[in-house]
Amino acid sequence: MTDTDFPQFNLLTGKLRSTKGALIDMDGVLYDSMKYHTLAWHKMMTELGLPVTRDEFYLYEGMTGAATINLLFKRHLNRECDCEEVKRLYAVKTRYFHELGQREPMPGADRMINALMSAGIPRVLVTGSGQASILDGLNTDYPGAFPDNLRVTAADVVKGKPDPEPYLKGLEKLQITPSEAIVIENAPLGVRAGKDAGIFTIAVTTGPIPRIEFEKEGADIIFPSMDDFADTLTKCVTLL
Ligand code: MG
Repeated sequence: MTDTDFPQFNLLTGKLRSTKGALIDMDGVLYDSMKYHTLAWHKMMTELGLPVTRDEFYLYEGMTGAATINLLFKRHLNRECDCEEVKRLYAVKTRYFHELGQREPMPGADRMINALMSAGIPRVLVTGSGQASILDGLNTDYPGAFPDNLRVTAADVVKGKPDPEPYLKGLEKLQITPSEAIVIENAPLGVRAGKDAGIFTIAVTTGPIPRIEFEKEGADIIFPSMDDFADTLTKCVTLL
């Protein structure tokens, strides 16, 4: 750690002293899955003839599948997609994701979870995902970290991120206030959801999105990698 990291270190240590719960995103935080989601989106949309880039899908992380499809249909075809078409296209994207993607835990995320567990800070999973293949793996990859009653998934939310709804539901699960929680996110729209819920939000850049996008959304602390965050968190919890 360099001298310039100390303000960040002190800010996080101070915050953790009053933290009664960590609300943790899944894709791009616990799993290195965004590279497969973005590839699957890009493949599906390119086959439709829409001129999209793979990297733009990192910015749409957190939006529902329907919202992403409609955004691009309006931009390139000047129309919305009807419900049946949305279902069909999202099924194609999901199939590509399964063909491409393995369930890969994010390097460093196990140390991040272990630090929270050793500090006695409860964890709530807060994801817009409903991918059973990944959700079912949580008990294997992060044993004991996310009890079944402390999970907010696609089945629990109506609006999804960037609306604060999923994080507000996460607070309800632990019966804590926004000031007693922290959010751990990797996506700008996820940071917006956390901040709009009134929660101290930590951004970890685990993909190609530049730091400025997280600054724009008001992230309280930004870490350059999960390993870096895990290192700092591990040191902070020894001081609690
Ligand atoms: Mg994410």
